[in-house]
Amino acid sequence: MKDLVIDLEAEKAEILKRYRALLRASKSTLQKGDKRMIRKAFEMAVESHKDMRRKSGEPYIYHPIAVAQIAAEEIGLGTTSIVCALLHDVVEDTDVTLEDIEREFGKKVAKIIDGLTKISGVFDTNSSLQAENFRKMLLTLADDVRVILIKLADRLHNMRTMEFMPRDKQLKLSSETVYLYAPLAHRLGLYAIKSELEDLSMKYMERETYQFIKKKLNEKKAEREKFIQDFIQPVAAALESQGLKADIFGRPKSIHSIWNKMKKKAIPFEEVYDLFAIRVILDSAPENEKADCWKAYSIVTDSYRPNPDRLRDWVSSPKANGYESLHTTVMGPRGQWVEVQIRTKRMNEIAEKGFAAHWKYKESSSDSGLDQWIHKVRELLRNPDSNALDFLDDFKMNLFSDEIFIFTPKGALIQLPSNATALDFAFEIHTDVGASCIGAKVNHKLVPLNYNLQNGDQVEIITSSKQTPKEDWLNFVVTAKAKAKIKSSLKEAKRKIAEDGKEILERKLKSLKISYNTDNIHKLTNYFKLLSSQDLFFNVAKGVIDLKDLKEYQATEKVVENKPQDKIDNEQVQSLIRTIKSKDSDILLIGEDMQKIDYKLATCCNPIPGDDVFGFITVNEGIKIHRTNCPNAAKLMANYGYRIVKARWTNQHELAFLTGLRITGIDDVGLINKLTTVISTDFKVNMRSLTVDSDNGIFEGTIMVYVNDTIHLDNLIKRLKQVKGVTGVTRFDSAPTPVERAS
Ligand code: MN
Repeated sequence: MKDLVIDLEAEKAEILKRYRALLRASKSTLQKGDKRMIRKAFEMAVESHKDMRRKSGEPYIYHPIAVAQIAAEEIGLGTTSIVCALLHDVVEDTDVTLEDIEREFGKKVAKIIDGLTKISGVFDTNSSLQAENFRKMLLTLADDVRVILIKLADRLHNMRTMEFMPRDKQLKLSSETVYLYAPLAHRLGLYAIKSELEDLSMKYMERETYQFIKKKLNEKKAEREKFIQDFIQPVAAALESQGLKADIFGRPKSIHSIWNKMKKKAIPFEEVYDLFAIRVILDSAPENEKADCWKAYSIVTDSYRPNPDRLRDWVSSPKANGYESLHTTVMGPRGQWVEVQIRTKRMNEIAEKGFAAHWKYKESSSDSGLDQWIHKVRELLRNPDSNALDFLDDFKMNLFSDEIFIFTPKGALIQLPSNATALDFAFEIHTDVGASCIGAKVNHKLVPLNYNLQNGDQVEIITSSKQTPKEDWLNFVVTAKAKAKIKSSLKEAKRKIAEDGKEILERKLKSLKISYNTDNIHKLTNYFKLLSSQDLFFNVAKGVIDLKDLKEYQATEKVVENKPQDKIDNEQVQSLIRTIKSKDSDILLIGEDMQKIDYKLATCCNPIPGDDVFGFITVNEGIKIHRTNCPNAAKLMANYGYRIVKARWTNQHELAFLTGLRITGIDDVGLINKLTTVISTDFKVNMRSLTVDSDNGIFEGTIMVYVNDTIHLDNLIKRLKQVKGVTGVTRFDSAPTPVERAS
């Protein structure tokens, strides 16, 4: 580390400069007395953090000032939040107590700081504790949403200033961010912050791809700007001549969203057409907003032909997170599709700043989508039965999905996630309606429970008093609410059956002269490889375990006693970690330690040498090696950080690794033959499987091959691309295998 020469006077001046910038950013919301409050909070923060520095060497106080600035400028929050942001780390990291805060700033500020301090442990090393903390975090959200908004500002600043952190910290923070904070920002309508969080996470988790896309974007920047100018010119002129005041400009898409598109469609960067969108921001009087948007739409589509399938009207029905905008995709002057987003200044502010801006405009907002969402969160949290980890998963799924609008028979509007089924709708109406649902009529036609609803459907639910929730319902419902209700009712039903089973078992044991006690029940549970005594009782009641099985148990009882437990054993995990870490470094070397430590390559991402990887300690299968950009990586790292071990490849070439290639091309009789020749004869690579789809002369195939490392693979791809008729060769992340379970 280089010597740090600190000029304290210069630092003091810099702190004041940053403070003044914060005041300027909050100006629009300041009322009488506010400035004094902010000053007081600032002084308390400076004083209590005075001896602390950040990893970068900078004074710690830069951080709370920056968080307050983000809260004011990028989220549009007011004085209370600015005060809380300035003080957000004070109680946790310094001698200042919550009582001090309450005395100086009042109850409201103290309550928010308390919430911020409590949720700082959300990502604890213990996974169930972590899920529990997440629940707490959502509870504070239901309580005062400002806690979450400030937390998001805090996380955003930490992500922006992460370069001095050690690599494993960067990966952990990044995965938490994509797993939880970005979806929360999305749900709260903070689109700008959501995109930035995703980009920053990607910058650390997938360094090479991030830099690659960034470079590509820069190369074509001038050309793109020229195109945008040409595109805008006739529209801007027409808008003006029609008397519409508007700001029109091109807006680049985020690197993360471009990468997503490349992955989803399995296409190279060059084939992603929407690297930017055109945005038309109208300066409209409140009463003309909707009419002006459609007028602008008409003007845009006079110049360019629209794609009728791509019109999205969130002006008439805003999204649940408050988003309002009119989107259309039109054919640009060079035969290229261009997305155009039309909205007013007010709508734009809501889209950029989300929640806070939304409340500013809506005086009585009790029926707004956001308010309904928070109501739903509250309702879900009230269900004490649901398993915290499952809940987290279901809930997270629901954070990102878009909504559709469904009508009740009486014409009331219900919002559901876009892939919701008739059964989700039934549970949305009422738990009892869902639980007794046997079918539905959609637009007067009879449909099954798992029918996928379409935007605008009118749905009538058919119930029967004989119906009860079924296990397989969980396979198709999507809302967190329906899942939680079905699970808790199945659990209740199972508990009742288990009670009967307990009595049956008691009788059976008696007849075998085995005494009924906790010890024996425990042994029996292990013998039948079940997780709990309740499962045992349940299986007895269901007849899965009968008298014959129990006799067998009696005969082998001695063996049973010594059988190892199949359950998660934290001690086992810890000792594995110790084995790895007691060696020269704490990095697992793949290829070398194979004999000493049991590990496997994960099938969800098929890592090969050269890939950035990490090890994940599983319960029954030793260590699994995943790529850091594995679709499951973020979840594993965010939830089970303590089970992650660093790993890298040693130089060895004897081993072969399975990976998948997707090949597209123009179908030609000899194509498959040519491909296999390159693979097996030229490269001497073994193929495991080959699937080919041919449709109207378009060829699409996937090939699983064994390669040595990424260099080997890159060479193979390069060579395959040269085969005549081939238009694309890409490696794909995951073979169609089930998602890794973290248990
Ligand atoms: Mn902080």
